[in-house]
Amino acid sequence: MLTNEEQKECIQEIFKCIFMNDFVKLQELFSKYDIRTDILDEHGMTPLQHAAYKGNEQIVRWLLSKGADVNSGKHKYQYTALHFAALSGNPIVCSLLLSAGAKSEATNSVGRTASQMGAFVGNHNCVSVISNYVPVDEVMRYTFPDSVDSEPKLPPVLGPLVHKFIMMTNIHPVKVAMEIPPVFLADDNASKIYKVLNIMCEEEIKKQLEKNEVMAFKYHYLAAILIEIAKYHDFKGDKQSEPKEHFIKKILKSEVYLEQFLKDCIRMFPHRDCTIFRQMVASLTKGKESMSALNVILVMIGNRRSMGVDSFGEERVCGTCAENNASKKCAKCKAVQYCDRECQRIHWFVHKKECNREANSGNNQTMVDSAHVAESLSALGVK
Ligand SMILES: [Zn+2]
Ligand SMILES: [Zn+2]
Repeated sequence: MLTNEEQKECIQEIFKCIFMNDFVKLQELFSKYDIRTDILDEHGMTPLQHAAYKGNEQIVRWLLSKGADVNSGKHKYQYTALHFAALSGNPIVCSLLLSAGAKSEATNSVGRTASQMGAFVGNHNCVSVISNYVPVDEVMRYTFPDSVDSEPKLPPVLGPLVHKFIMMTNIHPVKVAMEIPPVFLADDNASKIYKVLNIMCEEEIKKQLEKNEVMAFKYHYLAAILIEIAKYHDFKGDKQSEPKEHFIKKILKSEVYLEQFLKDCIRMFPHRDCTIFRQMVASLTKGKESMSALNVILVMIGNRRSMGVDSFGEERVCGTCAENNASKKCAKCKAVQYCDRECQRIHWFVHKKECNREANSGNNQTMVDSAHVAESLSALGVK
């Protein structure tokens, strides 16, 4: 047994370990002295809240596995672990807490949710994760049959994949297509998922409390992309490329096609008295100040701040899928950025013309050294 004094010291030591990200020592302390996970510091903060604030995935995961209370509300200013995670800037920690049952609607003493605090400090990736979070049960319930002899609406193997799919935060159509797992296009899975997404959209709109119109539209939108891609799957025969790639290339090649596809998607949204629907239509029809359908969707549904063409280069956005923090550049012109080789490969058929122009424009390099060209092409698998 520890004396009161020793216990106090040990608790202080634990908070210090979390502050220092010392996972090994933390585990030692917990097992040696049989400490509970709901101990509090002088501000009423739990170890889990401290670890969330540090954005330490490993410690958060471990504390959760030890049964730490994800919704502990004893902090002086009523911050929850999720509030701290949103402030930390680590979206994975946010999603760990949400999966463990963190309540995203909990507010602190000044009435702010975790998502609002995250936005306040500019952690938009955390905000996206929180606002796109859906409890897994909301999908898994479609994997059980409604009655004894009926088939479930969704084959059970698809449940977790559909759950992951609907929570994706970058909803640029290219990215959505890329994230569709091959099994979605096997058998008649696409039409099953399409139906379930439409039901989920309907159910979301019908909710009395905490109705999320943005998610409702997102279900509709993801369903529209999936079924469009599945269409290309059906007419095989000619030398048709893989259906996802076919769709992606159509989008990259023609802004007109993309715009039409997205406008149709907005127009087909069945819940016309929704605020979100009216706002989207208003933004599309402002005359000279109209936004493109892509921007309307990325800003209003996808949580992007601005998606002006000008911001692409500055924000290091991938030229193919619009993912943030694209770290690779086209080796030849250095004017476009990509997530990885796959994004560069898919983009090459439209980029190659521009690439030569950019590379020869003198804005970048007047001398394009041949090593760069070779590197660029070999990255694309072109000999
Ligand atoms: Zn990309
Ligand atoms: Zn280039």
